[in-house]
Amino acid sequence: MALNYAERMGNIRASEIRELLKLIEKPEVISFAGGLPAPELFPVEEMKEITREVLEEEGEKVLQYGTTEGYTPLRKKIAERMAKVGVNVTYENILITSGSQQGLDFTGKIFLDPGDVVICESPSYLGAINAFKAYQCSFAEVPTDDDGMIIEELEKILEKTERAKFIYVIPDFQNPSGRTWSVERRKRLVEVANKYNLPIIEDNPYGELRFEGERPPAIKHFDTEGRVIFLGTFSKTFCPGLRLGWTCADTEVLQKYILVKQGADLQTSTIAQRELNKFLEKYDLDEYIEKIKKVYKRRRDLMLNTMKEEFPEGIKYTYPEGGLFTWVELPEHINARELLEKAIEKNVAFVPGGSFFPNGGHENTMRLNYSNMDEERIVIGIKRLAEVIKEML
Ligand code: PMP
Repeated sequence: MALNYAERMGNIRASEIRELLKLIEKPEVISFAGGLPAPELFPVEEMKEITREVLEEEGEKVLQYGTTEGYTPLRKKIAERMAKVGVNVTYENILITSGSQQGLDFTGKIFLDPGDVVICESPSYLGAINAFKAYQCSFAEVPTDDDGMIIEELEKILEKTERAKFIYVIPDFQNPSGRTWSVERRKRLVEVANKYNLPIIEDNPYGELRFEGERPPAIKHFDTEGRVIFLGTFSKTFCPGLRLGWTCADTEVLQKYILVKQGADLQTSTIAQRELNKFLEKYDLDEYIEKIKKVYKRRRDLMLNTMKEEFPEGIKYTYPEGGLFTWVELPEHINARELLEKAIEKNVAFVPGGSFFPNGGHENTMRLNYSNMDEERIVIGIKRLAEVIKEML
């Protein structure tokens, strides 16, 4: 049946990662494809207890509707946590969202008219690209290096782009590249945004997963004009299944997010918010994060060391100081989509990097995740991947 869909649907395609994950659900597949946390670390026993407690103590409240803004005690705890990256806000600057993905969708809804241009890093997060595309925008990709966006290039692009609407960045352990912005670039980004009067969307799911070195201040720390909108989430530091994220912004800006949230889903799950709030009261989330980091650091080391030993010469990859991903650049003539087909025959999967570039190209790149496979599988998987790469050289 040919239904008459809205024009915007023409822009929306199935995410390659989701399609891929379907293909590789077989347990024998070693997957470096998704961005999933290690499930064996989830606090399942604690959550059983907490769920029982919130239902026993306040059953009628936790099953009831709540406010659009979110559960105030949880908003307060999040506001306190923002101080760790130099952002001094109150609960009135925090909206609880259904994952930070919802904050991305709302950003598109609030700022984008058809034909507007999103300024983003090259490469950028596929889920954001797809969320924004639904609002019929195009993308201007700014070249990046190990310190983040190259600000001179950003200025060149802004000078010639008439309908730039906001700048979207993932400054800490970027998805997909694993890179982190220097403090200097953070400052300069805010200066440039001030000059061009553009909002900055700072998407930061991974910053708390730092294995070594010091966490830089958020870009929002340098914001003096209320133009930085910070998106946070508990998906990588706690459990993605709860779908709990937040938007942190000036109250005037946040009001727009609250308005669209009302139209989207009224509020984020009451019981999920109460459960997380209880967890934060009873347990030390930072201690839990330390535990996760130890495991991920080991896995990162193992993946990178195995790559160093097994990958042929001439293959470049990033050394992430935290987060979940490393980014690989293959010789120009190797197409990572073809490589993936061959790798899947050997039961290994990853995400070809081309999909992270909204304007195409860069088919010789790939993203590898190290958080979700155990150590044995990481070594076997990388060895098999190295074999396939050698075959294609
Ligand atoms: N932003 C980035 C950069 C991500 O990698 C992800 C998760 N893959 C999200 C946002 C969305 O995460 P969630 O909705 O689970 O908070």
